[in-house]
Parts: sequence; C-alpha cells; structure tokens
Amino acid sequence: MKVLKFGGTSVGSAQRMREVAELIHAPHLQRRIVVLSAMSGTTNALVEIAGLLFAGNVAAATANVETLRQRYHAVAQELLPEPAVADEAIEHLDQRFQSILDLTSAPLSADGERVILAQGELLSTLLVHRYVTRILGRPAVLLPALEFMRLDVDDEPDAAYIREHLASTLAPYAAEQLFITQGYICRSAQGHIDNLKRGGSDYSASLIGAAANAEEIQIWTDIDGLHNNDPRIVKGTYPIRELSFDEAAELAYFGAKILHPSSVLPARQHGIPVRLLNTMQPEAPGTLISAKTGAEAIKAVAAKDGITAINVKSSRMLLAHGFLRTIFEVFERYRTSIDMITTSEVAVSLTIDDATRLPLILDELQRFASVEVDENQTIICLVGNLEQDAHGAANQAFAALKDIAVRMISYGGSPNNISILVHTNDKTRALQALNAGLFQR
Ligand code: ADP
Ligand code: ASP
Ligand code: MG
Repeated sequence: MKVLKFGGTSVGSAQRMREVAELIHAPHLQRRIVVLSAMSGTTNALVEIAGLLFAGNVAAATANVETLRQRYHAVAQELLPEPAVADEAIEHLDQRFQSILDLTSAPLSADGERVILAQGELLSTLLVHRYVTRILGRPAVLLPALEFMRLDVDDEPDAAYIREHLASTLAPYAAEQLFITQGYICRSAQGHIDNLKRGGSDYSASLIGAAANAEEIQIWTDIDGLHNNDPRIVKGTYPIRELSFDEAAELAYFGAKILHPSSVLPARQHGIPVRLLNTMQPEAPGTLISAKTGAEAIKAVAAKDGITAINVKSSRMLLAHGFLRTIFEVFERYRTSIDMITTSEVAVSLTIDDATRLPLILDELQRFASVEVDENQTIICLVGNLEQDAHGAANQAFAALKDIAVRMISYGGSPNNISILVHTNDKTRALQALNAGLFQR
C-alpha cells in the first residue's frame, strides 16, 4: 500500500483535479490510499463564514456560503461534462452547503464551527471521486475519514483506533486498488466532528500510512520538495534531496510550512519513507525523508512566528533543588508546551507558542519569582548533521547574524538543531543573512 496526499493547490481547480486523477488512476500502480485537502481557499472561506456566524452576522455568512456554492457548481460543471454526472454531484455538494446553512439559525457553537470547517475536504473528495469513477470510468472507493480518523481524550490522534477502524473500513474492498479519502477531518474522543488543525492533511496522510503499514507516504504539493530556506521570504532557495526523519521533524515543527508540524512523527515511528513531490512537475525528484542522514552540517533553516519568551528570575531559589521542576509543573498544569529553554545563575528563559493560558501561568510563576514577558518573537531553527560540528557551522551561523539582536540560543539539545530566538521584526533579515552566510553556492 502507498499513501498519496494532494494539497489545496494540487486540487485547486477542475484542471488540477484532472491532473491529480492522471497521477492516481493508472491501473499498473499498486494499491493506494489518496488523501485530499480542500480546494485552495476553501478552508479559509469556511473559517470566515464561521467567524461571521460567531459575530452574529448571519446575512453575510449566508451570502458567503452562496458564493462558495456557486464556485463549486462551476467546478462540477467543468470537471464533469456529462450532465447526469454533474447533476448527481451537485446534489451531493448542495447537501454539504445545506449542512452549513442548518447551523445559521442558532448561535454558532465550537462544535458547529468544526462541522463547517470539515466541509472542504468532503467537497473536494466527492468531486475527484466522481471524475475518476464516472468520467474516466476507473474503479475507486470513497472512504469516509470520519469512520476511522479519531482523537483520544487528550486530543491526540488515537493510533490504535485508527489502525483498527481503517482496517475494518477497507475490509469489504479486498480487490480494490484505489481509495480516496479526506485529509484534515476526524472525530473527537466523544465522536464529534473535529480536525487536525490547519495544514492537517499531511498529518492525516502520515497517520493513515502508519495505520495501513504503507511502504511509502507521498506528499504532493506545489513545490519541488523541502527547500533549504523559506522560499516565500528568501530568493534562490533550492530543494534538499534527502533528510532524516529527525531533521524533517524539526523543520516541520519549527515552521517549514510545507509539512504540518506533527506530520513526520507517525512515519518516523514506523520507519515509513516520506517523499515530497510536486504536482506541477511530477518528474522532479523532490525530497526523500527516511532514516538516512547526509553529512552536510547545516542543511536547512525554518522559522516559527508567534512565540512568547518568558524570563523567570529568582536570586533566592535559582539552581536550588526542584526550582526547574516547580517552573515546569506550572506549564504542565496549564498544558502548555515549552519549545526553547536556557538557564543562567539567576534566571531561566523559555518560550511557548500557545499563549492562551499565559495569564494563568504568569499568575502562578509570580508567586515565587519575578517574571518578564516578550511577545512577537520568532524561533529560527537551523537543521542538519551537527554531531561534531566539524565545519564550524555554529560559528558561521552566528557570524551571519552579527547585525541581528539574538534573544536566546539553544545548541546541543539534539545533534541536528540549533535554535535562535529573534524579534519577529528581524525574521526576514535573519533568514536572508543566514542564506547568504550558509548556503551561497
Ligand atoms: P499544500 O496546500 O499542498 O499543503 P502548503 O501551502 O501547505 O501546500 O505548503 C507548500 C508551501 O510551503 C510552498 O508553496 C512554500 O511556499 C511553503 N514553504 C515554506 N517553507 C518551505 C520550505 N522550507 N520548503 C518548501 N516549501 C516551503
Ligand atoms: N484544508 C485544511 C487547511 O487548509 C487542511 C490542509 O489543507 O491540509 O488547513
Ligand atoms: Mg499544507
């Protein structure tokens, strides 16, 4: 079995859906599960509709639903040139839009919002499935992700549930070769419709790959692999041909948007290679993520915004037994994970990316220490094989950053990561300086 995931741009129009169908339908391909995102722009449109409903603006929300519905009718007409096929698809598309409209008559709940956000992937998979089966005349099974993708009580994917229920969902189709399912959407531990957070279709693909013991997971997107730096910010970036699971996991977690932050973990756990490929250039080699690592010292740089730095200072207690534990316990109580940490004789600095419970955390920390908070910080993560740092990579990186105020540095925590905290205003300059200093070739 292989798992192939196609992102929003890859299914962003009728033409693109036809190109995806070309890549997935050939009978000589082995058994495969195709995971699709919503068409590009759809999830954003659904977020906006939910926002309007939260604000009580039912008229604007309803108008936006109608605009989206018309867009999907146009895509269906273009993709499915046989009227009977288009009509049947449009009837099903309209049921999805009706499920949104049904939520406009009462104030929107958090559960209602999740139902709205789930519609994009249901719409895109329906269209591609109808094109493959009814227009190309190829057999394909539309698998409902909501029957097997599930979170546990901690809102983490429930791998055992997914494995068991994916197997039973596939069981009636022993002879089928092509399956199409929704990325991103899942059910909560209580069985309510939920999702794997923005960009979550990558995570779906990896979880499904792990559950199906796939031999490869392919992430098809709009670029020819994972680049050495953020191509939206830095000119002249290039694709990295091979990354280890650890390197890719660090880059995804620390901001390389091409991969959802957690999406490497299930593949790494099961040793399943992940290939990043370009739908617009299918013959390009892309990036292979596997257990192998190359020799280069620093391979790539990524940046994660929205970071809050917290400095905890206590001349009386620092370095006393249990002080760090006391600090960590506060974060644990509020289920807030720490990304970076540095310590000195008199203070501890740490960073978090989820500041929703920050006021409660500060309240507790202030009981035993003085606390300062810096918002709008960015973690810049340098990833590669730094085992012995034979090439002086850290030196080179800091030389490149000589004009930039660095707030924190974390080096040595893992053999393939150096993390540097800067103010978000300095991010672009820092990424460009690192590019000039490390990757000019
Ligand atoms: P999809 O919709 O297929 O999931 P995304 O937009 O989520 O695609 O991810 C692909 C985009 O990620 C690229 O178009 C690129 O702009 C951006 N990106 C950011 N950092 C990197 C990187 N290091 N390498 C490649 N792409 C990156
Ligand atoms: N459609 C979802 C999003 O836009 C999931 C994804 O595309 O991966 O975030
Ligand atoms: Mg994505």
